[in-house]
Amino acid sequence: MMYQSTRDHRLHTTSTHAVLEGIAADGGLYMLDDLTALDFDWRSVLEQDAMGMSARILEALLPDFQNMEELVRQGYAGKFETDELTPLVGVGDRYVLELFRGPTSAFKDVALSLLPRLITAARDAEGIQEDILILTATSGDTGKAALEGFRDVPGTRIIVFYPHNGVSAVQQAQMTTQAGSNVCVCAVEGNFDDAQTGVKDIFAACKGKELPGVRLSSANSINIGRLAPQIMYYFKAYADLLHSGRIKLGHPVHFVVPTGNFGDILAGYFAKLLGLPVGRLVCAANANNVLTDFIATGVYDKHRPFHKTTSPSMDILVSSNLERLLYLLSGCDNEYVASLMNQLRKEGRYQVSQEILGRLQADFTGGCCTDHQAEQTIRQVWRQHGYLLDPHTAVAWEVSRQFMESRQDNAPVVVLSTASPYKFPAAVLTALDEVPGEDEFAMMDRLQALTGVPVPKNLAGLRQLPVRHRDVIGRQEMLDYVLRKAGEQVW
Ligand SMILES: *Cc1c(COP(=O)(O)O)cnc(C)c1O
Repeated sequence: MMYQSTRDHRLHTTSTHAVLEGIAADGGLYMLDDLTALDFDWRSVLEQDAMGMSARILEALLPDFQNMEELVRQGYAGKFETDELTPLVGVGDRYVLELFRGPTSAFKDVALSLLPRLITAARDAEGIQEDILILTATSGDTGKAALEGFRDVPGTRIIVFYPHNGVSAVQQAQMTTQAGSNVCVCAVEGNFDDAQTGVKDIFAACKGKELPGVRLSSANSINIGRLAPQIMYYFKAYADLLHSGRIKLGHPVHFVVPTGNFGDILAGYFAKLLGLPVGRLVCAANANNVLTDFIATGVYDKHRPFHKTTSPSMDILVSSNLERLLYLLSGCDNEYVASLMNQLRKEGRYQVSQEILGRLQADFTGGCCTDHQAEQTIRQVWRQHGYLLDPHTAVAWEVSRQFMESRQDNAPVVVLSTASPYKFPAAVLTALDEVPGEDEFAMMDRLQALTGVPVPKNLAGLRQLPVRHRDVIGRQEMLDYVLRKAGEQVW
């Protein structure tokens, strides 16, 4: 089965090529037509360990890769706090699926630990000699997870740009202390948009040109190689509920997902198409609730105030992975998807047909949560259950509460948890009625003293690590910087 662009069925390609290219030439996303037609025995997958599940799922979705089992073990083994990768924890009357137990305490680790292995395997399969040079602009979390994922992976190099003085002290320390012989971190004068536009300009300037010894690529969240590894944890959570006797095989489980770019929740939809008995997929948003409105009305309208919230990874008004869902719900109608995306670009708005809205609502429920509600949720869940939520997970918890009030069954509800509370110590301390203070590291210590929840090792050790990356450049110097770095044999 071939991948094709969501916007043009003539642009089709293999899974290895889709991973290397990231995005199709027409700006569409690479997608398979029918996941239900894949050769995949979802029941037997539930008997595997987390890495085995990942390998089976990826073999089905990315059939042109060899030795998937080995790639998966190289990507994950020994890097997560537990070989379970994503533990499921009972909290009160629901479950929390902890996706933040990876090397940088970010949910992005699940995908970015594996993507580099997929990229090098694709590079070998396509007979490419040059190093793959990954360029990324980051507002904080993704950059670190990408650096850690690509670190010392043969055949790859990575340059991460972040806004100078525009990330938290902890995020900055995470990046500037990054080890590895193929990694480079550089601050850009300006904000995140400046850094991101700078990276886009570099891709445009280098398009069709040969750079000496390297081939440019990106690691962003629309790459199918980032999406596919996320399907695993839905199976893992289901298997845990099954093996603990909470459910019988075939019974549904509901999942509540804190959503930004729509990758995390879309992976849950893929799990359902592969056969897993997923009940409702509940899309949780913060005050930037464009998706909540879309699921309720079928109108996607990005013209609305942008709110900076305490859950910054969900402060998104255009969720790029939604395009893949529209493609599937429209029966793989490329022209229809292209016209919607065109309207979004030109008018900032589109409306789907009643038929598609009906299909959307058959699987998805939407909900949203203000910063104030999230803060109250962190306090309440801590006081009642002794479990410490980060602000993103708190959004999902509150939406799960709304969902549980209205649902008709008593199937288990799993809340996906996308960050360690220690990534957001100021917001969490405030929620616990403390005055946060200035120094994030001191705040982490105070949060640990107050709650007894241990600081993840990778964060606790940061202060002692030597700074390795000190470059600061202007927005206009980014292209020259990349060209110079690409020419250097040793970093
Ligand atoms: C990326 C991220 C999300 C949103 O995930 P999407 O796949 O973009 O929907 C939620 N929470 C945290 C902490 C994240 O880093």
